Amino acid sequence: MILGAPGSGKGTQGKLLAEHLRVPQVSTGELLRAAVKRGTPLGKQAKTYMDQGLLVPDEVILGLIREILDSRDAAGGVLMDGFPRTVPQAAAVDRVLADRKARVDRVLVLEVDEGELVNRLLGRAAKEGRSDDNLESIKQRLQVYHAQTAPLISYYERQGVVRRVPGMGQVEEIQVRMRAAAT
Ligand code: AMP
Repeated sequence: MILGAPGSGKGTQGKLLAEHLRVPQVSTGELLRAAVKRGTPLGKQAKTYMDQGLLVPDEVILGLIREILDSRDAAGGVLMDGFPRTVPQAAAVDRVLADRKARVDRVLVLEVDEGELVNRLLGRAAKEGRSDDNLESIKQRLQVYHAQTAPLISYYERQGVVRRVPGMGQVEEIQVRMRAAAT
């Protein structure tokens, strides 16, 4: 699992790490963006929250998490990118995994300075045009991260699986640290 603030590099580092570990990378953010694009009921429910930089409610995400972890692709393990985002979601992940005699092996926390996060997200806004990469939503997402997602670090520290990875610098050098921390 990769944990980190918006803009910390979860998607970029997760993609490289998943290739290295030969497991699928699953991102609830990507799945939700695809659902929004297709205009599915899930997408319609999620869109207003996403545009405001708020988390989609746990009730909506819990079904998605179960679906992901129950899928045949997940049988050999997955790299979770951007979920769980709240303690109830983490508890749900633990329950689903325990049913399958599996568990979260490792949580990599990508640590990046706040100023750098905002610069990266504004840069991504210019490049990718994600509708939630505007200054107002970015500030909201950082607050949401600190309030609702950062507590997961101590949640997983209690399980002894957390490794902190400095997320500043070049993509390649950060990936070297990620791989070292993942093993
Ligand atoms: P991400 O691509 O991971 O930064 O997610 C983009 C947006 O999708 C977030 O700001 C949330 O609105 C929503 N989102 C993604 N994953 C989750 C999740 N596990 N729980 C709640 N909301 C989520």
